[in-house]
Amino acid sequence: MNKLYENDSYMKECNTVINGADFTENGAYIYIRDSIFFPEEGGQYADTGCIILNAYELDVLDGQVTDGGIRYRVDYSDSCKKSFGELPALSDILVINSEIHCVLDYDKRYDRMQNHTGEHILTGTVHNDYGYNNVGFHLSDDGLVTLDLDGPLTYGQIIKEEARANAVIYANLPVRASYPSKDELKDIAYRSKIDIEGQVRLITIGDDKTTVDICACCAPHVAHTGEVGIIKVISIVNWKGGVRIGILCGRRALEYINHRQNIIMGLTDLMTTNEDNLIERVRGQMDEIKDLKAKLSGALEGDIVSRIEKGDPDIDRTHLVFVDPDFPAGPMKNIYNVLKNKYSGYVGIFAGDDTSGYRYLAGGRNIDSTTLIPILNKIGAKGGGNSDMIQGRVQSTRLSIESVITEISLL
Ligand SMILES: [Zn+2]
Repeated sequence: MNKLYENDSYMKECNTVINGADFTENGAYIYIRDSIFFPEEGGQYADTGCIILNAYELDVLDGQVTDGGIRYRVDYSDSCKKSFGELPALSDILVINSEIHCVLDYDKRYDRMQNHTGEHILTGTVHNDYGYNNVGFHLSDDGLVTLDLDGPLTYGQIIKEEARANAVIYANLPVRASYPSKDELKDIAYRSKIDIEGQVRLITIGDDKTTVDICACCAPHVAHTGEVGIIKVISIVNWKGGVRIGILCGRRALEYINHRQNIIMGLTDLMTTNEDNLIERVRGQMDEIKDLKAKLSGALEGDIVSRIEKGDPDIDRTHLVFVDPDFPAGPMKNIYNVLKNKYSGYVGIFAGDDTSGYRYLAGGRNIDSTTLIPILNKIGAKGGGNSDMIQGRVQSTRLSIESVITEISLL
């Protein structure tokens, strides 16, 4: 097959013929004489697009390198299915020597070319500065482009490399493909992930004065580094003694920046401030919430203490206090002490509800509080403590808690 995408990565359409076809339960596959569709290879997904055959439009859904050559999966497009009431079997139209017109999904391809070339540039600058290699590359369509470097780098070092890589973009250097002979290759220092059998295709970034990178690669790239637009490092994780860097280039980086900008604009609106003051404003609000929580705790505690002191009949009957699930821990301790001083026998405070269970502090004055542990364990409580107080969680209902404790207290 004539790989048109290798010599001209900007070719969007071509005419060619079908060289062969396979029909399996997974779909129809064709082999073609000339192709603008790069197959899945070297960490990059296959190009998509469509072919026009007679009056029919077929989607090109996938392309895989097989022993028999590059095989493309095709199927009638949705619009074709809608336009024609009944369509011939694919095996009747995908016949050898049929003439077809191919159209590449060029927007998707160009996005990949920007991101793929950006990966070469950043890996190249890191390789030049640290001698590291990119030992794993993945160009997904909807997430980050990741590159796995086989040596450690700090955040500061990576940000410096990001700046160097972007300087290569500003210099708008040529990106060229070449096919050196075995002899010529011996004198060229190039990066390669694998030992390549047969003809090596080298991608050189640079001009006569400056060579940024030389790498063996089969994929389509942009012709000048300026087309990459921007290389932005988005994520850094330590990976097998080296580092996995997630980047975005070109239009994909712009979309990412727009997304982040929308988030920041939403926050500045909510906080009624500008973005430079945003962090300070959020910090101020957090402090305010902390103060309010402390005031609320005091008020809640005061209210319950006054109910205990006035002899609230509910508390008088059970010597137990039930409060909301998010009741703060500090006031719980104070209320427990007030209960203990007021009543003999077991007392306790329970924060929660019947569905999600209760946190508790319990025990008693002149009693070993730990004697309450086996009693509460009967209704599934977990926890521990000492003779002054026990604490923990119980997944039970208010009624069960009241009855198990008050029954014992009455004995
Ligand atoms: Zn490449």
